[in-house]
Amino acid sequence: MRIDKRWPAALLAGASVAAGVVALGLSVRRAPGDAEPPVDDEPALGDVLDAVAEPVLLVEGSAITLANRAAITVMGTQLVGQDVLAAIPHPEAAERLSDLDMGDGGPIELIGLGGAKQRWQMRVNAVGGGRRLIHLIDQTESHAAERMRTDFVANASHELRTPLAAVRGFIETLEEAGDDAEMRGRFLSIMGAEALRMQRLVEDLISLSRIEAEKYRLPSDAVDLGALVDEVHAELVATGDGRGRDIVLALAAVPEVTGDRAQLSQVVHNLVGNAMKYGRPGTPVKIALVREGDEVRLAIVDRGEGIPAKHIPRLTQRFYRVNKGRSRSLGGTGLGLAIVKHIVERHRGRLSIASQVGVGTTVAVTLPMQP
Ligand code: ADP
Repeated sequence: MRIDKRWPAALLAGASVAAGVVALGLSVRRAPGDAEPPVDDEPALGDVLDAVAEPVLLVEGSAITLANRAAITVMGTQLVGQDVLAAIPHPEAAERLSDLDMGDGGPIELIGLGGAKQRWQMRVNAVGGGRRLIHLIDQTESHAAERMRTDFVANASHELRTPLAAVRGFIETLEEAGDDAEMRGRFLSIMGAEALRMQRLVEDLISLSRIEAEKYRLPSDAVDLGALVDEVHAELVATGDGRGRDIVLALAAVPEVTGDRAQLSQVVHNLVGNAMKYGRPGTPVKIALVREGDEVRLAIVDRGEGIPAKHIPRLTQRFYRVNKGRSRSLGGTGLGLAIVKHIVERHRGRLSIASQVGVGTTVAVTLPMQP
């Protein structure tokens, strides 16, 4: 049976490819008296399927009669005339496709077609006259996102479990310790430190989820970064272990940037905090602000241990640390740079990290200035 390659343009607005082709079938059975649309205005079915971004095959029996451009890119050029079982060599797909009566079953997951890590959902719909439409939906990215989400939950739970187990252990020991005041004091201070660690982690997790929830909402306030840096500087000098006094400011007069003040304050806190933590005690931590064309560049420079090049691309991943033990002992959560990255992305800015082992690290954020 030949396929009618012309179909009414009005039917092309249909949401799904399968629905469109079913509509094609219906269009042939037009009610008596309906005017025939002018044939020249109707797009060819092949052109319509080529406009679909995902691979689509039309199959008669088990022979491919039509393959769109996306299908050819994924499965090769010689598709038309080929047996569909050879074009999609996958056991579950073969079971569904070799059963000629079975049209509209549930979706089937395919892995490895068009690339080892490529994942697809295959849908098969009967479209009449012994023909079936096979539609592949790319699931690679959504699968990777789902994987990232489950890894994140597993990592976060693991990070919380360690201090929680320590606190529980010390509570049990204290219960058995009797009246030893010195031991009591020591254990309570360790428990306090572990509780603080859990609190920091929970606060960073809350920050991260808030920032992610807002990621498509562009910030709109005009923020004076010079004043903001002065504010953070004053806070760090007043609190902490005296390391705040090593901060050196090199702030040029810069125009205001478009931003979310609280989030930009968090960026400065996290980056200066890292420079103070990982920089050698007593060495300067420089905060520089400069205008570059239509942008403002904030750079934090430390003279610390530096970061080996192979780690740099991964530092903004959640919970990634060069040295886990060191980060933990300094009160790190492993989320600081992930938070910075998300805030900078929301501001349509750029984050860059340059480092030399044994010399120090420069982390810079470039933000668009207020129009
Ligand atoms: P953390 O809470 O562990 O500091 P971050 O996300 O802020 O987490 O940073 C991730 C890792 O990047 C840190 O554990 C550390 O190994 C490395 N790092 C970040 N900033 C610096 C720096 N200024 N100097 C050296 N290493 C750094």
